[in-house]
Amino acid sequence: MKSFLIFIVMFHSLLAYNYSLESKNIGSAARCFFGLPEVMDEHNNGNMSNSCFIDMGRSYLVIDSGPTYQYAKEAYSKIQKQKKLPISYVIDTHTHDDHWLGNGFYKSKGATIVGSIAFKELPILDITRMQRRISKEAYKETKQIIPTVFVDGETTLYFGNKKVIITRVNHKAHTNSDLLIYIPSKRILFAGDIVFNGRLPSLRDGDISGWIKILEKIKKIDVDYIVGGHGKLYTKNAVDFTYRYLTTLKKEILKHIENGDEIGDTVNAITMLKYKNIPFYDSIHKQNIETAYRTLEWEDE
Ligand SMILES: [Zn+2]
Repeated sequence: MKSFLIFIVMFHSLLAYNYSLESKNIGSAARCFFGLPEVMDEHNNGNMSNSCFIDMGRSYLVIDSGPTYQYAKEAYSKIQKQKKLPISYVIDTHTHDDHWLGNGFYKSKGATIVGSIAFKELPILDITRMQRRISKEAYKETKQIIPTVFVDGETTLYFGNKKVIITRVNHKAHTNSDLLIYIPSKRILFAGDIVFNGRLPSLRDGDISGWIKILEKIKKIDVDYIVGGHGKLYTKNAVDFTYRYLTTLKKEILKHIENGDEIGDTVNAITMLKYKNIPFYDSIHKQNIETAYRTLEWEDE
């Protein structure tokens, strides 16, 4: 009897992981699942980025499919309880795996997956970063399914008379694969990881000047809502946190470069203590200084 119970418990835990996802209304423009301000691990199982559903009349458009197949499946079933509609398109905002490893689920539902042309160059890995860090139950059935429709420049999708304008940021910003998704009829912009809130942004694959440049363009777009890849803010001022952090960082680093300070001294000097209690400060602030110093030093020459 005891071993039978153990078997049941084990079998059940292998079935699937439950993320306990809850969506939030973005006015009447969209519904989003907001991720936690944490690094992916066996507790959050990758639930640290945002995934949104837009009712386009006869179907849903999904912005970012989330970190796993199981996540996508759960988000989908919760949205279907609100309103039953098929998924026509999934748009992956960029190539970081917490944003698109749920693609396989939507592909199985017949959706077309759209992403930057940079996905063509993305290596298919034996084991993904996500897979190494989260539980087997949560990663179950997850495959690296990349887009079949590639965006380079601008692509417009039509849903009746409603337009969805997808623009590839034509320079390196958060990555070299960033897309902006603008839906004029809903007055909403999805900015992917160009916009972070509630945690420090990561410059690891980015370019600080390119990132600031696109944020300045976004600030001028006339919309009511801006949803980023991480963080729960969705009003127009959602861009302010990332913009302030990056512009302050750039200004500080340039001062040190002009002084002729070495990279090591610069990394230690720019503490920006105002951000000390924001998640990811301890793990990535110094790394951000180092990455930005290298690009800015080169820009300076
Ligand atoms: Zn990212």
